[in-house]
Amino acid sequence: MNKRYLVALDQGTTSSRAVVFTPEGDIMAASSMEFKQHYPHPGWVEHNPDDILFSQVESLRAAVRQAGISASEIAAIGITNQRETTLLWDRATGRPVHNAIVWQCRRTAEYVEKLKQAGHDTTIREKTGLVPDAYFSGTKLQWLLDHLDARERAAKGELCFGTVDSYLAWHLVKGHPHVTDATNASRTMLFNLHTQQWDKELLAIMDIPEQVLPKVVDTSRIIGMLDEDVLGAPIPVGALVGDQHAALFGQACVHPGDTKNTYGTGCFMLMNIGDEFRLSQSGLLTTMAWRLDGKPTYAFEGSVFMGGATIQWLRDELKMIATAADSEPVARSVPDTGGAYLVPAFTGLGAPHWSMYARGTLVGMTRGTSSAQIVRAALESIAYQSHDLLSAMARDAGQTPPSLKVDGGASANRFLMQFQTDIMNVPILRPDVLETTALGAAALAGLAAGVYRSPEDVARIWHLDREFTPAMSQKDRDKALAGWQRAVRAALYWAGDGE
Ligand code: ADP
Repeated sequence: MNKRYLVALDQGTTSSRAVVFTPEGDIMAASSMEFKQHYPHPGWVEHNPDDILFSQVESLRAAVRQAGISASEIAAIGITNQRETTLLWDRATGRPVHNAIVWQCRRTAEYVEKLKQAGHDTTIREKTGLVPDAYFSGTKLQWLLDHLDARERAAKGELCFGTVDSYLAWHLVKGHPHVTDATNASRTMLFNLHTQQWDKELLAIMDIPEQVLPKVVDTSRIIGMLDEDVLGAPIPVGALVGDQHAALFGQACVHPGDTKNTYGTGCFMLMNIGDEFRLSQSGLLTTMAWRLDGKPTYAFEGSVFMGGATIQWLRDELKMIATAADSEPVARSVPDTGGAYLVPAFTGLGAPHWSMYARGTLVGMTRGTSSAQIVRAALESIAYQSHDLLSAMARDAGQTPPSLKVDGGASANRFLMQFQTDIMNVPILRPDVLETTALGAAALAGLAAGVYRSPEDVARIWHLDREFTPAMSQKDRDKALAGWQRAVRAALYWAGDGE
């Protein structure tokens, strides 16, 4: 039987998903299953590793059943995952020794403060491309070793650390390989992007024995065969890749300068910066885009904390709209915001403004300001924040991207996309397959299995659904951006950061 189909396992923060693709990149079937979030203390977030595994296997089986194909027709499986979430399990039994500590969990904020106080932030930044933060796996693993008193067992090689890709590979691939890929490794704060190795100095700083770490492999590479118990046939597992990196690949951003922005709860923007490691001057992260045949491709990464979440706030707190999709007709019902700007700095501002203390600010209102104008200002704020990220990236990379590829729930909003292209003055390209994370993982697996010959070959399965082109005059753009910058200054000033 012809092995042609590709399957992506997309293990996310709230659900596990599986998608079956044709070799042309079309979706044949998809299935997902949500699982429980655990909040043992304020600011702490955990997942039960059994839930992760169970929901992932169930959604895989359901998707394959729904596609009506047999397991032996699958050429390869790619695994993509929520990044940074940290697991620790017993090498002899495979049993987790603690719940997974989820990327959002703030329990190690004090560990990070200590690293900074000890003056390690520059070392971490220069070696890993990251700004030290409790998001990343390093201090989460440190916490587990401390609180479980497990350092000695770890040093004897009795325990395995891994991110979700590692955990799934260990449990689903025959022979239990203890591996992770370079994109996931690049989110641990322990991986040296220059040497492509776990960094001995950083391991010493965080007191982590090397024996606990997985072997780092290329992003696209057959790591083994799916255990026959899962689908009844052995299938090559051809990719492990962090979710944002998969989306960058699935958006066919395979050349330096190619950039994508995902408009979800927050926005995640990544720009391919080629094969040379570079640090941003604006506080963006440098990350591994992917590693193919031992050769790294790097990316800049930045995020907007409040993207689609701003629209949820309008819906749930201000009750100005009934559904997120209603924001579009409501925004279009007025010609402009009448000079009002919303800066949704509810949890501070990220790159390139960086203020933990900035707070939400609504400025420029008059007696005539309507709720429709506030809804419009909210949508515009998503575009302005993304604009600021893109211009920082373009400055740091020394090149403006030829276009911006978009995906995520809020990319369905045509008003937002048109305003985005107007403000950025860069064409926006929205593909027909919006499941770019799954597509990227499937494509990377297909590359390993020989379904595709090169990343350029993969780029041919990316298809445009709709292009948005700038229609705003430079004068209007300058005026709008100047107003936004003043509004941001107001949000910073409120926090005492702008004085
Ligand atoms: P996530 O993966 O972060 O859960 P999604 O990609 O599913 O996010 O997108 C959901 C987010 O997009 C929500 O915050 C929602 O408010 C926003 N959203 C969805 N549809 C629209 C729309 N038509 N206009 C504006 N925002 C939208």
